[in-house]
Amino acid sequence: MITYDPNLKIFFSSLINDDHFFSGFATKAVSDGRKVKNVFNFFQSQSLSFKKIIIPEQIHSVNIELFQSKDKENLEKIPDTDGIISVEKGVVLTVVTADCSPIIFVDKNKDIIGISHQGWRGSVKRMTQKMVGKMIHIGAKIEDIKVALGPAIGECCYDIDEDRFYEFKEEFDGYSNKIFHFRGGKRHLNLSLLNYLLLIETGIKKENIDYFPFCTKCDEERFFSFRRDKKGDRYGEMFSFIMKT
Ligand SMILES: [Zn+2]
Repeated sequence: MITYDPNLKIFFSSLINDDHFFSGFATKAVSDGRKVKNVFNFFQSQSLSFKKIIIPEQIHSVNIELFQSKDKENLEKIPDTDGIISVEKGVVLTVVTADCSPIIFVDKNKDIIGISHQGWRGSVKRMTQKMVGKMIHIGAKIEDIKVALGPAIGECCYDIDEDRFYEFKEEFDGYSNKIFHFRGGKRHLNLSLLNYLLLIETGIKKENIDYFPFCTKCDEERFFSFRRDKKGDRYGEMFSFIMKT
């Protein structure tokens, strides 16, 4: 279940958070996650202990980093990466999004954590399945992987042009009647549902997936949205994170 923590002002998945794993999807009330100092402030002001914060420099790729600390610095940036996996304790894996889908992964038996960012480019290239594949490659078991899909633009607001429609249709034709809808003469895509279906396709159990019900563009009070805010000075991005405590 996705639950809101009013003190931290984050949403989190009860499938993932327990005494050993701490994750969340920050709302815009926390701050603009693009500024590294805001992410540090969040952890420091709540007295949450951590060793290091990991910031991938996202490029809408399907590049995934298996992260291992190289030094004792409390910040590491990883160039050209949209997914990170780690087995280290105290390491906070993060992504930032505003309409794209943030997804958090864990295998609690093997202490493997992961996080990824996927907009339409990452989704059409099956980023979620690549994340699961990498986790399995380092020892995770498909039946033990738990996943939480965070706040993303809803099908209500995500209209796509003809080129993109056909690109998705070609790759995911079997899901057409689930992921596409027509509204007011426009084609709409359900990005979160597509990523959910890809996780199911790869063998993740339904009961191990938490799925976020809100639309970032509709819910202006809680979320930044690229489509809604990109032309204004109110634009920002939310950070999402997971760490093994
Ligand atoms: Zn919407």
